[in-house]
Amino acid sequence: MSPMTDVEDLALATRVLADHDMIGMYGHVSVLPDPAADRYLLSPGAGFRKELCAPGDVIELGFDDLWRPGLPLELYMHSEMHRRHPEVRALVHTHAPALTELSLYTDVPGDALLLHAAFWPDVVPVYELPQLVVEREHASELIDVMGLESVALMRWHGAVVAGRSLSEAVFRSIYAEKNAQLLLTRLRAGGAVAALPGGAERAQIADRIITDRMLGLHWSYEGTGDARRHGAEEGK
Ligand SMILES: [Zn+2]
Repeated sequence: MSPMTDVEDLALATRVLADHDMIGMYGHVSVLPDPAADRYLLSPGAGFRKELCAPGDVIELGFDDLWRPGLPLELYMHSEMHRRHPEVRALVHTHAPALTELSLYTDVPGDALLLHAAFWPDVVPVYELPQLVVEREHASELIDVMGLESVALMRWHGAVVAGRSLSEAVFRSIYAEKNAQLLLTRLRAGGAVAALPGGAERAQIADRIITDRMLGLHWSYEGTGDARRHGAEEGK
């Protein structure tokens, strides 16, 4: 069994992403506690109130475990990502509105319009499958399409966001959705908007802005908000 802190962190990440409307009825987040092991932790699936996720609700699975009732339908994207890219320690699957809307465009812009979204890919991978990713084979195709990018869109569906840590995946998910909102505004309104430079220059900006310290501050900020919300509910 994974250490309690990993389980607690995943429960917290689930609640934080729910509070940002990144996951709700649909969507989940996973973490790979030990990159040398073949087990991962996953938040509950469809229908579960993610904003109420407690450590006891977190699911621990092996890479080869099969779907069974009670597990998220789309669990294989997590097992296959962690199996093939153990450096990806956390993966978020979201149906967030702006990322989902952006997935409809035939040409998805590769522009980062925020410093904090400097991880946005120059060329955004888009996986096209007119159904949910419930087969291991399709999950593997999705991971192929995503490659080493931080974000991939799933047409008519949503997105997946990878992180080298849980805090990075949470941060990137929230700022990917903000960047998608700005890209949609620009697509609708037209006009010239200055985007961040692309390529290596953008990667340097990401390294400068989204430091471990920044991720730590963000994680702590979100955790404090979560504690206040749940403390208030319990009348503390
Ligand atoms: Zn989905």
